[in-house]
Amino acid sequence: MPVFNEHAVLPELFTRLTALFNSAHGYTWRAVLVDDGSRDPSAALIRAQALADPRFELVELSRNFGFQAALAAGLAHARHADAIVTMDADLQDPPEIIPELVAAWREGAEIVRATRRSRAETGLRRVGFDLFHGIFGRLSDFPIESNSGTFGLIGHDAIEAFHQLPERHRFFPGLRAWIGFPTTDVLYDRQERAAGQPQQTLRRLVRYALDGLFSFSHLPLRMLTYTGVFVAFMGFAAAVFYTVRRILNIETAPTGYTTLVTVVLFLGGVQLIGIGVIGEYLGRVYDEVKQRPLYVLKRRPGGPR
Ligand code: UDP
Ligand code: MG
Repeated sequence: MPVFNEHAVLPELFTRLTALFNSAHGYTWRAVLVDDGSRDPSAALIRAQALADPRFELVELSRNFGFQAALAAGLAHARHADAIVTMDADLQDPPEIIPELVAAWREGAEIVRATRRSRAETGLRRVGFDLFHGIFGRLSDFPIESNSGTFGLIGHDAIEAFHQLPERHRFFPGLRAWIGFPTTDVLYDRQERAAGQPQQTLRRLVRYALDGLFSFSHLPLRMLTYTGVFVAFMGFAAAVFYTVRRILNIETAPTGYTTLVTVVLFLGGVQLIGIGVIGEYLGRVYDEVKQRPLYVLKRRPGGPR
């Protein structure tokens, strides 16, 4: 769980997690709370809780690195777990769902997404979320379930796959879709934040949305080529149109007009195609730089299960 300035919710979070840990037998639980440079007593609260109950662990970042970085730190810390549940600390993701996630995992799903029946967000955030999922669903090469976010469970093999993804602009739901594996959904009702204010600013969310789009789609680059071809075609059509009119003596515009329009349109198109071609190379360079593995093995040879 990434935690940033959540001291108001932490006591309730501890109570509900402890109740869950005590009731779900047969498992060794650890709650890994990553303090993302909180400027309130969050870190101290977690440290006290970790002292009182060793099932709670604190991972402390040196400053605020943002949600995705904090999540990555938690995943790295819990790397050797059999399964990891990723969730927000503000109790919008109710811990009581976790046994259902675990049950789905025991039934063979390597990735379990907690999918919202309903969204608690309203207003501008809501519009933003809907807009993002609309665009992402159309553009992305790896569509994500529009009602699931970070909340979910990933099993051991998926965790290993995650650690083969070194890219820096991380969009968790997209990466989770990218690595594959048998996936199931568990439905839940998204709660209101238990206390405090949303810590993700709208600006951060927009940046996050752009990370998602650009990391999983080349379409924005490719659009340049398409536009270029279209404009160049228009130029060519205009050239033919005006030439024919000139020959038939219909055109009365001042001399040079035809040539100008044609040349401008055509050259504009050619330039856009040129940028598009550069974009194609750029897209490939981007793919190389991301250094995603070529494939992910479902089971490591000699591994468990
Ligand atoms: N969070 C974080 N670093 C940040 C901002 C948020 O670790 O810079 C944590 C926050 O404490 C919470 C989770 O990320 O546990 C989700 O944040 P928030 O509830 O503000 O986002 P929203 O629910 O609006 O997506
Ligand atoms: Mg929240």
